[in-house]
Amino acid sequence: MRFSFLSLLRQAFAGHRGWPEQWRSPEPKRVYDVVIVGGGGHGLAAAWYLASEFGIRDVAVLERGWIGSGNSGRNTTIVRSNYLLEESEALYDHSLKLWEGLSQALNYNVMFSPRGVMMLAHGHHDRVVLTRHLHANRLAGIDSEWLEPEAARAFCPGLNISSTIRYPIVGATLQRRGGVARHDAVVWGFARAASALGVDIVENCPVTGFLRNPDGSIAGVETGRGTIRAKRIGVSVAGHTSQVMDLAGLRMPLESYPLQALVSEPLKPVISCVVLSNTIHAYISQSDKGDLVIGAGTDQYVSYGQNGGPQITAHTLDAICELFPALRRVRMMRNWGGIVDNTVDRSPILGTTPIPGLYVNCGWGTGGFKATPGAGHLLAATIARGEPHPIAAPFSLDRFARGRLIDEAAAAAVAH
Ligand SMILES: Cc1cc2nc3c(=O)[nH]c(=O)nc-3n(C[C@H](O)[C@H](O)[C@H](O)COP(=O)(O)OP(=O)(O)OC[C@H]3O[C@@H](n4cnc5c(N)ncnc54)[C@H](O)[C@@H]3O)c2cc1C
Repeated sequence: MRFSFLSLLRQAFAGHRGWPEQWRSPEPKRVYDVVIVGGGGHGLAAAWYLASEFGIRDVAVLERGWIGSGNSGRNTTIVRSNYLLEESEALYDHSLKLWEGLSQALNYNVMFSPRGVMMLAHGHHDRVVLTRHLHANRLAGIDSEWLEPEAARAFCPGLNISSTIRYPIVGATLQRRGGVARHDAVVWGFARAASALGVDIVENCPVTGFLRNPDGSIAGVETGRGTIRAKRIGVSVAGHTSQVMDLAGLRMPLESYPLQALVSEPLKPVISCVVLSNTIHAYISQSDKGDLVIGAGTDQYVSYGQNGGPQITAHTLDAICELFPALRRVRMMRNWGGIVDNTVDRSPILGTTPIPGLYVNCGWGTGGFKATPGAGHLLAATIARGEPHPIAAPFSLDRFARGRLIDEAAAAAVAH
């Protein structure tokens, strides 16, 4: 059923009892053309683009828990494309352009809200780094503006621009096209649209091993719900990539860290944009429900423990209180963590692997939500054509062997 004003009206008169299930929950078949491992936003987006753009509909998405139970449902939803290097700018802006039409394309309101992302500079070094980003972005046709402290406060009232605080604000970049989206809606929207085109979404189906042909190419997966054969498999499991790829005998150049976030009690609108500070490790926006959504930097040790260290959130809240003194007495409601897999150059890995038929999308670290439609699209294109999409090509796995790193550590330090 398409969502429209008329269907809403019809359901309103019928007491909203006629809405169908948003996606099917089929038993997995024994053979598919393509299998995607991981039912987060990236995996579901890849399945939808395979079906909608590349005409490959015999696809299964295998998710070990429920869809969106990984980082897609745990992040602070910041979307932007103001990265430093040409390769990254092309990648993230490809994604941002897809965000701009996503609700219409999926016929599902993903609540993409380009309310502006402001990145604060707290000293001379920050100013130099951020203006370098600004110029690089403009050269690439990506919107970016410089705001002096007063202009930053005018854009985000309540921001403390006093020169006597620990890390005084000396300016900020602003990407007006950046913003936030509703993470659950993104997952559900891709799932619903993919399922409508025939993609099987199989939840509670952990992948536990890979099958190989005698020539070494991929032949299928072992799962908690039996063997499923497929000649093409895309792995998109975010913080668990090392574990899953290890099942195929591939050691990935990744380290996995907990990353934490928290939300406050709901408030009337107080923060109208997204504010982000790499230097003091904090970022904040306000959800449409009214909660302040606050994120921290990663924990400082590798771990699969999703609780994370309390000192990390305490440090972040110190920073938020300094940036917005009016929020000092706001109570926090919940905090949580997710596992993010980081590469040494803080750029993702997207493309083919040494195993024919096995493709991987990972290494998005703390910043892959913004890439959800873009990564899904590029993974789908790469699987459909059997070779990397030109935008994805620089992000190949073998760049670590060739030494052609794409160092985005400054753009991705906290980092969203
Ligand atoms: C606290 C936090 C805040 C963040 N904030 C931002 C932000 O503001 N902006 C931004 O751009 N990014 C942010 N990120 C990063 C972002 O959330 C991720 O990069 C992105 O969501 C990854 O999407 P995904 O679909 O690849 O992963 P996921 O949503 O994690 O999906 C992977 C799925 O794979 C499944 N899986 C794992 N192992 C198996 C298996 N063996 N078999 C089958 N399925 C398996 C998992 O259950 C999971 O559902 C944040 C992350 C965290 C943790």
